[in-house]
Amino acid sequence: MSDTAAPLLLTPGPLTVSDRVRAAMMRDWGSRDEAFLALTARVRAEVSALAGADPDRFVTVPMQGSGTFAVEAMLAAFAPMDAPTLICENGAYGRRMADILRRLGRPYRMLHGPETEPTDLDAVARALADGPKPGCIAVVQCETTTGCLNPVSQIAALAREAGVPLLVDAMSGFGGLPLDMAADGLTAVAASSNKCLQGVPGLGLVVCDRAALADAADRAPSLSLDLVDQARGFEATGEWRFTPPTHVVAALAEALDELAEEGGPTARLARYGANLTRLLAGMRDLGFRPLLAAENQAPIIATFADPSGEEGWPGFSFARFYGGLKDRGFVIYPGKLTQAASFRVGCIGAITPADIDAFLIAARDVLDGMRP
Ligand SMILES: *Cc1c(COP(=O)(O)O)cnc(C)c1O
Repeated sequence: MSDTAAPLLLTPGPLTVSDRVRAAMMRDWGSRDEAFLALTARVRAEVSALAGADPDRFVTVPMQGSGTFAVEAMLAAFAPMDAPTLICENGAYGRRMADILRRLGRPYRMLHGPETEPTDLDAVARALADGPKPGCIAVVQCETTTGCLNPVSQIAALAREAGVPLLVDAMSGFGGLPLDMAADGLTAVAASSNKCLQGVPGLGLVVCDRAALADAADRAPSLSLDLVDQARGFEATGEWRFTPPTHVVAALAEALDELAEEGGPTARLARYGANLTRLLAGMRDLGFRPLLAAENQAPIIATFADPSGEEGWPGFSFARFYGGLKDRGFVIYPGKLTQAASFRVGCIGAITPADIDAFLIAARDVLDGMRP
């Protein structure tokens, strides 16, 4: 393919966006202009609605930066200083929350689980019952390390029973996977402009409980990531504290329209599910082995064992497989597992089962060319 032809990104973000979302970036916006303030207000309201967060009780606070900026701002606001945050960890993004808390100097306890299994609810219940009560719980909804779906609503029920706030990194599934902050009584959720919202990267989103936010004033050690300050700007004047990523916001507004036209998160998730079904069947036909049991797999990203060196795979190397696919217009994702050699293929973005079929044909072609 030529340098100018964009590859199809089968990655969990950045991901392939539609032409109309890309086209929405082709104009400039004055950051304090009425039109842009209206756009910002609309995006904030629509993101809240997607989170099941009624405006009386919750507020959406956009944060310049990638998704991690939103997670860090969320933890800086809501992770207590004097009681440990219980991190339900079964992958790299759970561990990233621990890294953030360590930097913030906030106490935490890890509830470690295997990367191929959802968070164990009995283990959460035990962690809540034993020892000092955690100050809050943090969990990743869909652990992008594997694509494993964690039981957020059930963890939320345990958290409510124990009277402990729950913070959710919902980054990889937001706009696709179901999420109901009001029903589950969640304190805060972190998301981003790309991934299932199918905008472009550059904007983190924190949807949070207004009362909890009011209690969080002066807690953040960082000026730029101070969620309370950032929210104050939006609520007082509708303006961003610092230079907003105007084109990213415009693209997100377009992406939200597109999501509504598709039929909302339910329809979007159904398309991703069709992508995943096609992908798993096709990859199995090619001889690849998925790492997760089907019931643990969210239709966001699928993880496959890297068969390098296995009998029956002479000549296979992930680097050559990746390169061959790239030459044919498809970008996949390396693995991130600590235990097993693996690679990942995303199901999200402006892609359809027909794109997955085209990818599978390319994958067969690459594999044929790799045999010695
Ligand atoms: C993508 C992602 C993030 C944020 O990653 P960035 O590279 O900072 O955008 C956080 N958590 C999960 C679960 C993710 O999938």
